[in-house]
Order: sequence, then C-alpha cells, then structure tokens
Amino acid sequence: MNIHPTVREAAAIFSQAGKQIYLVGGAVRDLLRRGKAKDWDLATDARPEEVIALFKRPGSFVIPTGIKHGTVTLHFKDLKMEVTTFRSETGYSDGRRPDRVDFGVSIEADLSRRDFTMNAAAYRLPKGPLVDPFNGQVDIKKRHIRCVGNPEERFSEDGLRPMRALRFASQLDFTVDESLLAAIPDALPLTAKVAAERIRDEIDKIIVSNKPSTALRLMEQTGLLSMLIPELAACRGVEQDRINGMGYHRFDVLDHSLLTCDYAAHEGASLPLRLAALFHDIGKPVTAQKNEHGEQTFYRHEKESSRLTRNILLRLRHPNTVIEKTCRLIEEHMFSYDETWTDAAVRRFIIRAGEENLEDLYALRRADAYGTAGKEPSRTFLLPLKNHVEEILAQSKVLSLKDLAVSGKDLMELNIPPGKHMGIILNELLEAVIEDPELNTREKLLEIAGKINGRYL
Ligand code: ATP
Ligand code: MG
Repeated sequence: MNIHPTVREAAAIFSQAGKQIYLVGGAVRDLLRRGKAKDWDLATDARPEEVIALFKRPGSFVIPTGIKHGTVTLHFKDLKMEVTTFRSETGYSDGRRPDRVDFGVSIEADLSRRDFTMNAAAYRLPKGPLVDPFNGQVDIKKRHIRCVGNPEERFSEDGLRPMRALRFASQLDFTVDESLLAAIPDALPLTAKVAAERIRDEIDKIIVSNKPSTALRLMEQTGLLSMLIPELAACRGVEQDRINGMGYHRFDVLDHSLLTCDYAAHEGASLPLRLAALFHDIGKPVTAQKNEHGEQTFYRHEKESSRLTRNILLRLRHPNTVIEKTCRLIEEHMFSYDETWTDAAVRRFIIRAGEENLEDLYALRRADAYGTAGKEPSRTFLLPLKNHVEEILAQSKVLSLKDLAVSGKDLMELNIPPGKHMGIILNELLEAVIEDPELNTREKLLEIAGKINGRYL
C-alpha cells in the first residue's frame, strides 16, 4: 500500500497510545483502485477529545470540523487528515441525518454504516490487514457500485446516497448495480428532503467529472433528473430538424446537451463553461415553433435558456459568480460569423460578449458543434472570426466609454450638464467611434457632441 509517510507517522502516535487506527473510505478505495490516494480518511477507537489531546504537540493542530459526528481534521506536518471515531448510527427519522451517533464500537460496525462496498473497506495501520467485510475489493476490481446491504434501507437512512452512487459512476467510470438503480425511484421523496447544498455538491462533482453524461443519463432513467432539474428532462424528445450554421442536428435536445457537456469536460473546461454547455439549449422546449415552411425554429431560445439556467442555479444554491458567468455564456452563444461582418460588427461582438469571455465562448461553440454533428469540429472551425477578433484587438481599443478621447468633463465645457442626457451623448459618441475609430480625437468628438446636443435643444 502506497501510504503517505506523514500518515504513517501520525498513525504511529495513535498506536503508541494504545489506540486502533485504520485508513478508511475514499483513501482505501483509491489505493485499491489505482495505487494512490488524494485524501486521507482515518478511523479510530479514540474519542474526538482524545484525538485532540493526543495531538497537542508542536507541528500539529486539530480542528473540530464535525465533532458532533465524531470527525476532526488533523493537521500534522505537511498534511491534512480527517479522523473519525468509530461510530454506528441509528434512527434517521428525517432521511437527512442520524438522530443519534454512538461512538466507540468496532471497525466492523463502523464499516457497516458506510454507503457502498467500495467505500467500506479499512486498512489497519501500520501493516494491515485489510478489513473488507462486504467484498469491496472485488467490486472495485469489477468497477462496480453496490450498496452495503439493502439499497431501500440504506436510502431510507440518507436520501443523498442515490446521488452519491451516480456521482461516483461518472467520477470513477464504474457501473451501478441494478438493485441499487431499481431502489432509486421509491427513494425520490427522501432525496427531495435533502438540503439543496448537498445535492448541489454532488451535481457539481458530476459536472466536473470526466464524463458527466454517465450520471446524468442514470439520473434521467431513475427519475432524479425530472425531480431535480425538470427543465433539462423536458429536452428529451425535442427534435431539431433544422439545418443550422453548424450542420444537421442528429440528436434531440437532451442528447445534444449531454454530448456538448461531455465535450466541454473532455477539453478540461471550468465548471461555469460546462454548466453553460449542459444548459445552453434548455430554452428550446419552450420556444419551439414551426415556421411557414414547416421547419422547427427556436427563436431567441438563448434568452430563455439563460433565464431557466438562472432559476436552476439559484435553486441549487450556486454562488453568484458561477451563475453570472454561466448565464452570460449561454446568452451570447448564438453568434454566427460570416465574411459580411464589418470591423464595427466585430467590435460590437467583443463588447457584447466581454473580452474576458471570448475564449470560453469559442470553447462553448466548439462543444456545441460537437454535440450537433457527433464528431470533432474541423481545425479551422471559428478561425475566420478568431482572426478578425485578433486583428481588432491588436488595433487601439475603443470598446467602452473610458476609451473615448473625451470625458464627461469635456462635455461640460460645451454646457452639457452631467446626468442622463450626457450619458446618452457619450453612448452615441461611443457608437460613432465603434463605427469609425478615426473619429476618436478630442476635436472631432466635441464637434459631434455639439451637433447631437443641438438636436436635443
Ligand atoms: P471523495 O472524497 O473522493 O468524494 P469519499 O469516498 O472519500 O470520496 P467522502 O464524502 O469524503 O467520500 O466520505 C468518506 C467516506 O465516508 C466514504 O468513503 C464513505 O465510506 C463514508 N460516507 C460518506 N458519506 C456517506 C453517506 N452519505 N452515507 C454513508 N457513508 C458515507
Ligand atoms: Mg473523501
């Protein structure tokens, strides 16, 4: 077992004090799965107060992160470890958290309250043995997710577990046991009671995994998608028979959205960009309309997609920064460049999108194109637009009011009072300069401002 030397050192301190100490949870799973671990979860028969006392020493400190549930975070030398006292939980009357936590039983009892067999093996430190009462090692080899014991019972204790199972399927590329999947529909009312933040964390882990569609398809199959993100579930069966700028649509809106999100994941995109990829077309079911030629249209769907996405992300308690970025990308995703675009049109495009969003918008469109055709877009995809944008950005920039050669102060010299009226004039000047950058001199702009002002007198 490839165990971090600092973990071994900390474990030795438990052993010297006559306490049992085991590596558990994700750490054991990841060591068995691929020979290395990223987090270090430990379980012990020492009480939380005992752990705190044991590590009152130089170079270490203990934070009582979840002391009610027996969990403390041990900072020891260069490493952070979660240490949990053996526990057995009883009575989950609300399906959200145990009513009571009992400490100090055995490692076997502790393992039996864990969610999945792959998470329910423990490695006794320093030298073993591996305690694996539910054959987690076999399931890890088979890359298979199975509940510890009866899925209905386990879900009745904690309604988050169905989401955890599907999240692990996407993260680890594991299959999910049929009996586990079959128990999810009846557990939906329990999942509905789980705090939105806990659901959000699972959804975000799905979205940032290598293949989000694995979990999202299982969510659809088990009813979790209709319950948690009905706006996305509604995209099933919405056909798009229209040939658009990116070629012929081969998939319904849901399959298209999943492919687009997987491609963004494949490219290592950020969370907001992946969310934008998943939700960029959710306005389509609402805006679908046949035109006079009998073709399917989705007029202004990007606006509706952005509105619905804002609702979803607010409901799931995402931070504002994520919501704003995601919605901005969705709202701007429908640009379609051709050789008729003038320099002024490109400047307007840059201003609308925001210079800082350009790379993400290109990436979103690549993913969108992949999701449309089901194959890699050509290497020259978007190149004419990118080149034109580069050209414009290389010129002296006039992309906002602050780039104008005149300010409000200059206009006051023309007896234009500050206020709404001046704002209108400044914006007209900006429009003029976007059309023709040559106009951006103090002299020319004051002349134009005078004329505009005259119009309003
Ligand atoms: P990762 O940290 O990579 O998400 P993990 O398996 O370490 O995966 P944690 O949420 O850190 O997951 O939990 C640590 C361990 O605690 C799990 O491996 C599992 O044994 C147990 N566990 C966590 N959440 C639950 C739960 N809701 N029900 C039962 N056991 C749980
Ligand atoms: Mg963990």
